[in-house]
Formats: sequence, C-alpha cells, structure tokens
Amino acid sequence: MNLIIFGPPGAGKGTQSKYIANKYNLYQLSTGELLRNEIKNKTELGSKISSIINSGELVSDEIVSNLIEKFISNNNYKNKIIFDGYPRTLSQAKNLDNLLNKYKQKIDIVLKLSVNLETVKKRILERQTQENRADDNEEIAIKRYRTYEKSSEPVINYYKQSNLLKVVNGEAGISEINSEISSLIDTIKG
Ligand code: AMP
Repeated sequence: MNLIIFGPPGAGKGTQSKYIANKYNLYQLSTGELLRNEIKNKTELGSKISSIINSGELVSDEIVSNLIEKFISNNNYKNKIIFDGYPRTLSQAKNLDNLLNKYKQKIDIVLKLSVNLETVKKRILERQTQENRADDNEEIAIKRYRTYEKSSEPVINYYKQSNLLKVVNGEAGISEINSEISSLIDTIKG
C-alpha cells in the first residue's frame, strides 16, 4: 500500500505519518525533511533551496521529483511509502503517477487533513519551541498556509476524480485522528 498524506503546514501530517508508518510497517517519505537535510548537510542543492524554504514558497517540481524517485525505485520501499508533503501541485501529482507507473506501483489512498489558519498558527508556534525550524514563525506560517491554499485545490480535485480522496478532520485530537485514519486504511486493505 502507498498512501499520500495531504494538508496545510501544521495539519499534523508528520505526526500522523509516523504513527501510520509504525502501525502498518510503511516508510515515511517527507520531502520537507529531505530538503531540510540538504540544507543541514550544506550540499549544493541545500544552498540553492534554503532561501526558498525560509520564505514559505515551494521549491521547483524538478528538485522534489528527483529526490523522490530514489525511493520509489528502491525495492525495499516498494508499495510501502507514505508520501508526506508530496505532491503539493497538480504537476507533482501527475509526475508521481508517472513515476509510480514506471515502477509498477500506484497510490491506494489520499488522506487530507483539514485545519484552519488559526490552528495552523498555534501548532506551528508550539512546534517552533520543539524543532526550531527556520520556517516555523508566525509570518512564514501564514505565507506557507497561503501557498498551500493557492496550489492545493487542483491536487485535491485530481484525487477526488480518481476516488482516492478521504477527508479527515485535522482539528481533532491526535489519537482521535489516529483512529479515524486507521479505520480508513483498514477499509481499503479489506
Ligand atoms: P514541510 O516540511 O512539508 O512543511 O515542507 C517545508 C518546506 O519544504 C515547504 O514550505 C517547501 O518550501 C518545501 N517543500 C516540501 N515539500 C515540497 C514539495 N513537494 N514541493 C515543493 N516544495 C516542497
């Protein structure tokens, strides 16, 4: 099973991905984390993308596509990936389908966590005290939320059309969301 966890910054994608990864023996593939590692390791790519990430914009589709192909093509992760933070644009969604086709895989479910801007601001400020991410401050959080609003609708429609989209109330508590997600996954696993 491959799945996508979708939603604005602060929706709980990372928290829920870790939980699902553990429970169903899947691999959490967070493009945000991969990109932050590039910056931390001071790679050439890292120096190119740090100002984009820290301004709350999206890095180019090509950059993230190159990063994820390494995992999709790796047999250890075959049919075991949680895409956390990817795709974020319609062209990324199409690209993901192409890549999955190439390696004889598909997406089985898309979980969309819905949360409003006030909750996002609150959660990101909380997270800032724990993770100290450069893009976790109120101004950039708002920017990232707006970026999400601009680019997410075509992605959501894309997965609605293919009947893969399930919307989960991301305002609920962590364990409540856990159980809702588990039952959605159990339903498709049969
Ligand atoms: P995240 O950890 O998912 O909140 O991502 C942090 C930042 O990394 C985003 O604000 C973007 O700048 C960048 N990023 C992560 N995933 C993607 C993606 N799929 N496409 C473009 N940029 C991304």
